[in-house]
Amino acid sequence: MVYALERKIAELAVERACVLASAVAASHQLGSVSKSDHSPVTVADFGAQGIIIGALQHAFPADPIVGEEESSFLRKDAALRDRVWSLVKDASRTSSAATTETIGVIESEEALMDYIDKGQFEGGSGIHRMWALDPIDGTKGFLRSGQYAVCLALIVDGVTVVGVIGCPNLLVDPADESRGRGVIFSSVIGEGAFARALGTMPESATSISMNKLTDTSAASFCESVEAGHSSHAQQAQIAAKLGITKPSVRMDSQAKYASISRGDGDIYLRLPVSATYEEKIWDHASGNLLVTEAGGIVSDMYGNPLNFTQGRTLRKNKGIVAACKELHPKVIAAVQAVLEG
Ligand code: AMP
Ligand code: MG
Repeated sequence: MVYALERKIAELAVERACVLASAVAASHQLGSVSKSDHSPVTVADFGAQGIIIGALQHAFPADPIVGEEESSFLRKDAALRDRVWSLVKDASRTSSAATTETIGVIESEEALMDYIDKGQFEGGSGIHRMWALDPIDGTKGFLRSGQYAVCLALIVDGVTVVGVIGCPNLLVDPADESRGRGVIFSSVIGEGAFARALGTMPESATSISMNKLTDTSAASFCESVEAGHSSHAQQAQIAAKLGITKPSVRMDSQAKYASISRGDGDIYLRLPVSATYEEKIWDHASGNLLVTEAGGIVSDMYGNPLNFTQGRTLRKNKGIVAACKELHPKVIAAVQAVLEG
């Protein structure tokens, strides 16, 4: 099996970060502060980034990491910093001895700050191996007790080869609420897509795949909750062109990629609202591989593959369209018709 160790480390790191995020959610003290772009960040974002980079540095010290967050807020605010440090210690204590041996533990508050800042790698072309990390994707969903996801991907020579998405608030089985919430999705290039309940053994993961639809009118589509992140109006027009009658399923984060990968929905549309916004690689790297391995295609709104060699953003791409192989060309045609109209 290729990338077996990378997948194992990524899953352990994401699971530990999910423990932290769930603890923050249960405490109802999210420690939210506003970043310079006015987007929110919480103690869970900082703690999850520290945990995951600490684990990656323990296992693969030479690998650079493109992570969303950095520590300047924490370095200026002792109370916020202490809270994050205490959450990281608590989450690490829940790990088994074997896990601790495999991904280590962070030894001090100072080391935690340094790990958080190791996510500032710029990425770009000619990079052999790098990781893309969104410690809490969908922070707005996290704040409203909706969907959020802990997302980690390994990119080798510009290709996503390992992708892990932890979704603590997603139903284990949408058809049976009694099975509770919390799912971890994983994929390795060429080896398929898998899901299991958070907290269960990796061996218990089962293979997942997208619905194979040929008739677009039978499809359902998902999109962001935030109207500022994608154009709900254009997406409604595209859906109408495809003959889709079901209302869109709105959810935050890469839980959208995860949902269509296991057949909860069929199409993910993300049409830009701003001509200048560049999608971030950490918002798409894991989902891109998961959907591909589940039998789908992920592209930009013109049908081009996502280009992960342009730095921290997908500078060469605009918008996102994800669907199963059978539907994808039809969706791209409808997108073009709406854009031209
Ligand atoms: P979602 O939960 O799918 O709406 O996506 C959340 C992500 O949207 C965040 O992690 C941000 O990086 C990203 N984001 C922020 N502003 C924009 C924007 N103007 N257009 C698209 N994505 C954005
Ligand atoms: Mg994000």
